[in-house]
Amino acid sequence: MIYSAWLFGFSLFFLAAERLRPRHRVPLLRRGIWNDLFYLIFNSEYLGVLIGVASIRLIAMVDAAVDLEPLRRTVALGVMSGKPFWTQFLVLLVAYDFLQWLIHNLLHRVPWLWAFHKIHHSIEQLDWIGNWRFHWFEGVFYRALLYAPMAFFGFRGEVMFWNGVVGTFVGFFAHANLGVNVGWLRYIVNSPQMHQWHHAHPDSGPPDRNFGLTLSVWDWLFGTAWLPESDPGRLGFTGIETYPKSLWRQLLVPFWKGQRELNAAARSATSSTRQTAPAGSQHPGTGPRARRRRAAGCRSGNARCNSAVDRAAGGPASPRS
Ligand SMILES: [Zn+2]
Ligand SMILES: [Zn+2]
Repeated sequence: MIYSAWLFGFSLFFLAAERLRPRHRVPLLRRGIWNDLFYLIFNSEYLGVLIGVASIRLIAMVDAAVDLEPLRRTVALGVMSGKPFWTQFLVLLVAYDFLQWLIHNLLHRVPWLWAFHKIHHSIEQLDWIGNWRFHWFEGVFYRALLYAPMAFFGFRGEVMFWNGVVGTFVGFFAHANLGVNVGWLRYIVNSPQMHQWHHAHPDSGPPDRNFGLTLSVWDWLFGTAWLPESDPGRLGFTGIETYPKSLWRQLLVPFWKGQRELNAAARSATSSTRQTAPAGSQHPGTGPRARRRRAAGCRSGNARCNSAVDRAAGGPASPRS
């Protein structure tokens, strides 16, 4: 079955599932839905095709300009060629997803990459279609860093295809507005429980948590997992109120110098607040509670973040209705 058919089937499945078992009350035609429909169509289908065409042309141009055969003989490992389907599939799933986790970290930690990734974090109500809200440059950046190393290992095309199908399903699932609890699977696979905390507004919880795309195991292994019993009260980022709502402005804003300057000003304001927090404020101190708050990344004076950390440490908090 072609990828478009899987995409269409998953879309219908999650559209129905969200109506039957919603996590939060979100109207079908919520704010930003038409933009997200564009992102779904463009990012899921045409972006892949455009990148494919561009890379074929680019490779052909490089091939014509330089003799790559010696390089191919040296670096093409081909260690997976000839291995059974399931071996290739499992190795690719783990290796590909770990690279994705690293790239996602970069998107949050490098300011000019964050300017592009902010589009995805402008989601204020999570649902399945939000999975596709991202800037086209982000798609190019992921693929540029993912495809080259994967190609050297000699994975079969059908293995790459099924890895894409599974990744798409989990991406839909993690963003879906579904009131489900995956139990112990939360430590292995990404889920709505985990991913909504990745989208949490800094007023609601610690930033830069739960970077996993398909697997959540990397966050548990490397200490970036965050999973209280409750759901975040608010999604987004600082300054989301003034973030563009129109599609074209969203696509253009990362290229604006002014936007980068705004980001830099916001960062320096945050760091100066950290340095000048007065004694007796809610800045983390030295006790065990303060250490927990600091480890969770709570910013000075962020009462909601601090209380979320305290609630998580002191036992389950009451779920949001
Ligand atoms: Zn992110
Ligand atoms: Zn997301």
